[in-house]
Amino acid sequence: MNAVMQTYGRIPISFERGEGAYLISTDGHRYLDGAGGIAVVSMGHNHPKLTSALIEQAQRLWHVSNLYEIPEQSQYAEKLVEASFADAVFFCNSGAEAMEGAIKIARKFHSVNGARNRYRSITLEGSFHGRTLATLGAANNPNHLEGFGPPAEGFDVVPPNSLEAVREVICSDTGAIVVEPIQGEGGIRPLKFDYLKGLRDLADEHKLLLIVDEVQTGFGRTGKLFAHEWAEITPDIMACAKGIASGFPCGAVLASKKVAEAMTPGTHGSTFGGNQLAMAAANATLDILLENGFLSKLQQVSKLLWNGLQSIADAHPEIVENIRGQGLMIGLVVRSPFVNSELGNFARNHGLLTVVAGENVLRLLPPLIIEEQEVDFIINSLKQACADLLSKV
Ligand SMILES: *Cc1c(COP(=O)(O)O)cnc(C)c1O
Repeated sequence: MNAVMQTYGRIPISFERGEGAYLISTDGHRYLDGAGGIAVVSMGHNHPKLTSALIEQAQRLWHVSNLYEIPEQSQYAEKLVEASFADAVFFCNSGAEAMEGAIKIARKFHSVNGARNRYRSITLEGSFHGRTLATLGAANNPNHLEGFGPPAEGFDVVPPNSLEAVREVICSDTGAIVVEPIQGEGGIRPLKFDYLKGLRDLADEHKLLLIVDEVQTGFGRTGKLFAHEWAEITPDIMACAKGIASGFPCGAVLASKKVAEAMTPGTHGSTFGGNQLAMAAANATLDILLENGFLSKLQQVSKLLWNGLQSIADAHPEIVENIRGQGLMIGLVVRSPFVNSELGNFARNHGLLTVVAGENVLRLLPPLIIEEQEVDFIINSLKQACADLLSKV
């Protein structure tokens, strides 16, 4: 049998190297990486600043464990705190691990404040928080839970964009509300700003913690450093991963002071979390994101891309039902009977890599460093893909 467990349906292409927004396959084709390794490769492939930061660190020290002081970790955490709502950061290695941490921290906060019973979280239908047992329970997606026993306890799942639905399930055991500002895997479904503000108000009213899952939306993806900034809300806890270190595995849980104070030595941990290599990649990524003008340029480029996509939607309303998302987190809602993956396959034939999401959505999550010429490439590939889809070549 295949020595790699067959948990993925893989596209039969492999890559030899990457150059900025492009990937070069082993059979010599050049693709625009419009999926960015699923919202991970924020600075593109082989970015000179990231590569040299990582090589320099690799030649000095990789890992010592959190038994010891890690100055690179403290320095990076200080920078993150400075750039966000948070007062402290816990480092881990993935999105699911960050969300597990976020849920645990919310529970611990209530426990140390005399309310051990308040372990329950309110979560939203259509969300995705990772593939661990707790995060599967939180999202309650039947497809992901099938065969894995009873869903983890402690989550009350409600439909999104209804504050009434949230209000109805709040009980004396509720401790937190969990939300992705834009539901990613669910189909790039942005939640209304008023709804997000309403969740903040409900949390305040009932002394709940607001946990935002910015694993996909965070670190510049939507044109602001964090997507919750668009709605002008302040979370209590935020989970990050994906784009945080541009492809080096890294996750982080950010929290306000009152929440972070609940976490004392021995309460949580991660062997690899925040090691020197991850911190070098994350630190270099954040430096670029915080460079003067980086995010405003990203917003400009994304406007060009949105305009181009809109022209495709206008030309092909029979294929593109709607475009949704923010910044460079974009979903093309494909109109049935056309199928997202089919459109994606045709786009790939024209050199553009994409990724599907729920609700028949084709996702674009290109590196944040794309420029006008990449926008043109994406639009041209998609135009040709639409033509192919119509003639079913
Ligand atoms: C991808 C994702 C996760 C899980 O991240 P992993 O690194 O795959 O564990 C969690 N939440 C959201 C919103 C995601 O998009």
